[in-house]
Amino acid sequence: MAEQKLLPPGSTIGIIGNGQLGRMTALAAARLGYMCHVFGPGQDSPAEQVAHKATVAEYDDRDALVSFADSCDVVTFEFENIPHESVQLLSEHVNVRPSWNCLHLSQDRLIEKNFINDCGIDTAPFKGVDSLDDLEKAVNELGRPSILKTTRMGYDGKGQALIRPETDLETAYASMSNAPSVLEGFVDFQREISVVVARSACGQWTAFEPAENNHVDGILDTSTVPAHLPDGLIEEAVRIAVTLAEKMDLIGLLAVEMFHTKDDRLIVNEMAPRPHNSGHWTQDACYSDQFEQFVRAVCGLPLGSVERRNDLIMKNLIGFDVEKWPDYLNEPNAKLHLYGKSSTRRGRKMGHVNFVYPLGELPKE
Ligand code: AMP
Repeated sequence: MAEQKLLPPGSTIGIIGNGQLGRMTALAAARLGYMCHVFGPGQDSPAEQVAHKATVAEYDDRDALVSFADSCDVVTFEFENIPHESVQLLSEHVNVRPSWNCLHLSQDRLIEKNFINDCGIDTAPFKGVDSLDDLEKAVNELGRPSILKTTRMGYDGKGQALIRPETDLETAYASMSNAPSVLEGFVDFQREISVVVARSACGQWTAFEPAENNHVDGILDTSTVPAHLPDGLIEEAVRIAVTLAEKMDLIGLLAVEMFHTKDDRLIVNEMAPRPHNSGHWTQDACYSDQFEQFVRAVCGLPLGSVERRNDLIMKNLIGFDVEKWPDYLNEPNAKLHLYGKSSTRRGRKMGHVNFVYPLGELPKE
């Protein structure tokens, strides 16, 4: 497809994926006068409820993909686990941003870590694991504790096994169901942070400042800004995220999750070429939030200001946490965001609350 750099308001943005990230992207797009056509399986999805148009189909449905592509001026993604053939097919009909290469680099943990290291950026030490024998050798090399993760389709701590001193390796390997895996050395971190960077079709970039993330059971629980980082590491975190976005020639958003180690280094854990849960704080702290930056980048508009106006704690509403929604409506500094999911399940992301504080007045931990 011939690259058309600027897509004016009134154009249609296609979004592959129809969850909450697609929903919040479609809302931001609507504010700028764009229409969104969302694509994904499952009726009454969070994104479908707010989009101009929805196609309900599987990600490998070629006929549905072609008619979807033909109805859009540009196509993007709200998650990265899309079959290669589908992205290729879309690209034959419409501009796809970010490119297949960006998705490919972040779909598979081994490819991702090799790419990051090739950019001169540190990850935890790692070894590919395709058999029990590989796992035994990798554990001998990387020691215990270490973490075994499937290379693909893992998110929110799913497809992972912690290898403790007493862990039986055969059981741990069996828990990966023979899927190609990677063993990672355990990082004894002080904190986890993430940076979301936007990069537009003309190479302009902006980065939101790092958020400090707290996970519970492998799922993001809170993100706090400002992060408690020593001088110099804020700039270093931004430099890392921007370097990765530039090296992959990304058009769109890149979220980069990092560990701040006890000896004050930054180590990249993983990255995602799309809006990210740890960027939801931007909705109530920045003039142009991550979803608006995403739309601007994908449509070739100038990027907005990422200046932060207040301190903020984002709290995820996971599973039945969402039942407290009336309480949040009574808190003057709480901004409630619900995703419109019709059924509540344990571990399911149902919404989030942004607790807003004046600059410098975050509650003490
Ligand atoms: P992931 O799915 O890779 O983001 O992992 C989920 C969470 O597990 C991370 O946010 C960390 O809290 C923890 N974790 C993942 N990898 C490591 C590691 N190599 N060392 C220590 N903790 C980790």
